[in-house]
Amino acid sequence: MVAKLRDRIKALEPGDNVLVTIPNGPYKCPPAPFEFSFIIDHLLRERGIREKVDVALSSPRPFPFGGPPVKKVFMAAAKEKDILYLPEYVVDELYEKDGKTVVKYKNGEEVAATLVLGPYTQKAPAFLKNSGLTNEKGFVEADLFSLKSKVSDDIFVLGDCAWLMLIKGDGTPLGKPHPKSGTFAAAQAKVVGRQLASPDYEVSNRRCGKCFAEAGKETGITLNVTIFENGKGPPSFVTGPPDNAGYKEKLKWINELMEGFFDDPPKL
Ligand SMILES: Cc1cc2nc3c(=O)[nH]c(=O)nc-3n(C[C@H](O)[C@H](O)[C@H](O)COP(=O)(O)OP(=O)(O)OC[C@H]3O[C@@H](n4cnc5c(N)ncnc54)[C@H](O)[C@@H]3O)c2cc1C
Repeated sequence: MVAKLRDRIKALEPGDNVLVTIPNGPYKCPPAPFEFSFIIDHLLRERGIREKVDVALSSPRPFPFGGPPVKKVFMAAAKEKDILYLPEYVVDELYEKDGKTVVKYKNGEEVAATLVLGPYTQKAPAFLKNSGLTNEKGFVEADLFSLKSKVSDDIFVLGDCAWLMLIKGDGTPLGKPHPKSGTFAAAQAKVVGRQLASPDYEVSNRRCGKCFAEAGKETGITLNVTIFENGKGPPSFVTGPPDNAGYKEKLKWINELMEGFFDDPPKL
């Protein structure tokens, strides 16, 4: 699939256009659709055809993740790259017409593009649903701190299949789910592993992580995310404009993950 997408991007010609869509509901890696559009922008500029290929990005909400500081940084990067941002555009259906993919939005507008891409709305794998463990959203509910499932202390739930509700400063529900990212799946794995190794282990009252969104031209946007601190929310985000340090950190993060999974993996 990745190879096919690479070929489709390489095949883009002057006059073509690209539309990146963001789905409703939780999806893998909140900044990823911005990253997709930034990387496509970069590849088109390398080929000298960017002015002749429009790139747009649609979101079902005014901005899909983080808070105002995050929005400011990502919107500035999108503007600088001349990427058209379509806020509050909820995808209704897709169909093919005259060699293009048409995205029909709930507001009645239609955008026809040579290449349409984006993440899907996500759900936990079918075996969890078939086991009766999922909620109406398709995820398995668990405690934000211990990651023990709501149905049994003997079932831990972590990563993208988990339904973990974020909390406010007073500990009450914020009404938003925990972001789904590899950074947090790895952090949660440690929380679960330590509890399994020692039943007396006191779970941490702090969860934070770093995400890096590649932004083209060997730059990346670094996002420092704190989900809770001293056992309290709300989540906070610290970020800044794209820079080379963010790009290098992203490569380092990928290399370290690969080294954890495989013997002698290729280095980025
Ligand atoms: C394009 C893209 C870019 C991303 N970039 C980033 C990034 O830069 N930083 C970041 O932090 N996160 C990123 N993410 C998100 C990150 O990949 C996920 O959040 C992370 O992989 C979640 O880990 P997980 O183990 O919970 O789920 P997964 O990685 O989805 O692993 C679940 C595994 O379970 C397997 N499985 C399912 N059903 C069964 C079954 N019945 N039997 C056996 N196995 C089964 C699946 O095949 C899969 O291998 C990105 C995601 C995407 C799609």
